[in-house]
Amino acid sequence: MLSVNSDEHFMRQALRQAQLAADLGEIPVGAVIVADQQIIARGHNQTEQLTDVTAHAEIIALTAAANFLGGKYLKGCTLYVTLEPCVMCAGALAWAQLDRLVYGAGDDKRGFMRFGRELLHPKTKVEFGVLHEECSGLLTEFFQTKR
Ligand SMILES: [Zn+2]
Repeated sequence: MLSVNSDEHFMRQALRQAQLAADLGEIPVGAVIVADQQIIARGHNQTEQLTDVTAHAEIIALTAAANFLGGKYLKGCTLYVTLEPCVMCAGALAWAQLDRLVYGAGDDKRGFMRFGRELLHPKTKVEFGVLHEECSGLLTEFFQTKR
């Protein structure tokens, strides 16, 4: 069984990805995808490096996970992401039929929850607020130093 502690453990791995993004001058958002308690994919925001507005952490991790699994569906997988997914990513996660989504910080402006969890696949379970302070702290810090 997944416990709260393992959620925190995997969110810390997502935070490491977010830190990698910050180090490269990218908005610090990181994600990992877990199957059977193992990380099968990682991603961090790369929109600047790839000059691609779709290069969000979730999309990068999604593609990597599909490559790893040799299939496009993420049944039985949990995606941990430091920031609430945007509408685009929620749509992609719906197509992937993700089993479980766990995110840290909320995003009132661009987050999918403004529109509701119907954007996800009906079977996707959602949890949020895991390591919320660390996740949002990284973003706040990033935008403070940019100013
Ligand atoms: Zn997104």
